[in-house]
Amino acid sequence: MNRFTAALAGLILFGAVVFGCLCFFGRQGFRPAMSDVHLDGFSILIDPGHGGEDGGALAADGTPEKTINLQIARMLEPMLNACGYQTMLLRESDSLIGDNSLPTVRQRKVSDIRRRLAAVELNPDSLLISIHQNHFTDPKYDGAQVFYSGNDPRSRLLAECIQEAVVTRLQPGNTREIKQSGSNIYLLYHCKTPAVMVECGFLSNPAEAEKLKDEAYQREMAFSVLCGILNYLE
Ligand SMILES: [Zn+2]
Repeated sequence: MNRFTAALAGLILFGAVVFGCLCFFGRQGFRPAMSDVHLDGFSILIDPGHGGEDGGALAADGTPEKTINLQIARMLEPMLNACGYQTMLLRESDSLIGDNSLPTVRQRKVSDIRRRLAAVELNPDSLLISIHQNHFTDPKYDGAQVFYSGNDPRSRLLAECIQEAVVTRLQPGNTREIKQSGSNIYLLYHCKTPAVMVECGFLSNPAEAEKLKDEAYQREMAFSVLCGILNYLE
């Protein structure tokens, strides 16, 4: 290929990418930047648990849950967009999303979780997928487990679909059962839309923690959650 043909090919490729992006985002409507936005029509809200000064659970090497939650959530979002679904990430960076000027950590965490709930309430025609990692004192336990809200019966079906997809695709030995959330899972307990929390695995299990930190495994996890959501929506 001579220099002119190469430049022309590059230009055509660039044009195709720009055109593709315009079509894609044109169809999506818009990509909201913050969590207190009302989306028109059905949407899927992805909630990466914790953030900022609230790291969540810790792996033995100090890797915080918040980081893995955001990484998996960021992989899941474009997959859902590519399937034509409108999405919103309730947290887009490493910080709590409530009023961070409040004086105590507890107040800031309460403000954060209330703002996440408010984002869900602002979008009643939605599904909520909360992404977390588990932790237990005994390091032998592993495997994903999906919790569901008791407020809408569809939440249970959504949890079943995601649990089944993760087990089938990634964790064939996992015998964990889906479980209804109690009041200890604030978002699921209070939100009215179909809602689940995916505990992708145990950071307290060294072998599973290594997997959960691995980008390829995170992508597989995000894809498995996607498959579960798609099965549910069918
Ligand atoms: Zn968590």
